[in-house]
Amino acid sequence: MEDYPKSLLEFEDRFSTDEGCREYLYQLRWPEGFICPRCKGRTAWPATRDRIICGTCRYQASITAGTIFQGVRKPLRLWFRAMWYVTSQKNGASAMGLQRVLGLGSYVTAWTWLHKLRRAMVRPGRDRLEGEIEVDETYVGGEEEGVRGRQTERKTLVAIAVEKKGRNGFGRIRMACIPDASSESLLGFIKQAVKPGSLIYTDEWEGYRGLEGNGYRHKITVLKGQGKAAAIRLLPRVHRIAGLLKRWLLGTHQGRVGPEHLDYYLDEYTFRFNRRTSRSRGKLFYRLVQQAVQLDPVPYKDIVAGTRGKHQKSLMPQDIVGGGAN
Ligand SMILES: [Zn+2]
Repeated sequence: MEDYPKSLLEFEDRFSTDEGCREYLYQLRWPEGFICPRCKGRTAWPATRDRIICGTCRYQASITAGTIFQGVRKPLRLWFRAMWYVTSQKNGASAMGLQRVLGLGSYVTAWTWLHKLRRAMVRPGRDRLEGEIEVDETYVGGEEEGVRGRQTERKTLVAIAVEKKGRNGFGRIRMACIPDASSESLLGFIKQAVKPGSLIYTDEWEGYRGLEGNGYRHKITVLKGQGKAAAIRLLPRVHRIAGLLKRWLLGTHQGRVGPEHLDYYLDEYTFRFNRRTSRSRGKLFYRLVQQAVQLDPVPYKDIVAGTRGKHQKSLMPQDIVGGGAN
């Protein structure tokens, strides 16, 4: 059962102490009841604060160890407030906004927290799109159209996939930075983001030619020389998403996003967009906490460098399972 606060008041009542926060982490980490990380024993009793003792082998398990909350110095209730703030705001939060709301001592702390949380937002290789999908690439970080097929210095190439829903509707989206518009890069993205058997709509760029050989159906909708207006008309959803993404980066984040960190902003945008119809913002909060306790700790140096690190172990094919975005 999905258990989450339905309102700010419920949130404040429940997570006003670190104990309340730990209890929630415990529930989400062991939804079927405690399982000892060492002996797989099922009985446990509480020790001190963060620790529980395995009733079988006496192993002292930590509720936060092995999650992104491992070793955090600030109170958990402050982290919970950050997660609530990020998920309850329609456009998320900037580092400066979070710093102000939580009264954090430094901008760097707020920035690092947001990046940690972003890593819990999209689990790569999961929830692949299906059905009819528009795919295109766009440059992010520059004003005008770039030269196709290579990455320019300031701009990063971003691949976007959008599920078509009805005549004009949007389903879910997936996005990722790609090094270039080669068929290797584009097919690599599509395999991660879209289930085989789906019908993919693209323009006639040669990088998409291998789709049918890889188990996808493929329809070319925009032909050479038809220009930008035709592309917007014939692949309207990806162009709409590209526009919204750029506006969000320039608005909420004032364009201050380095290319090495862009992937994580894409994850955050995707997380929120794919849950835009959720009746309760509390559900986004729930999903974020749930994914955060399933994620390995992310070292600060990986966050600064923007590297995926070992927390991305969930990329293994056996982890690719179906399931809705909510
Ligand atoms: Zn044990």
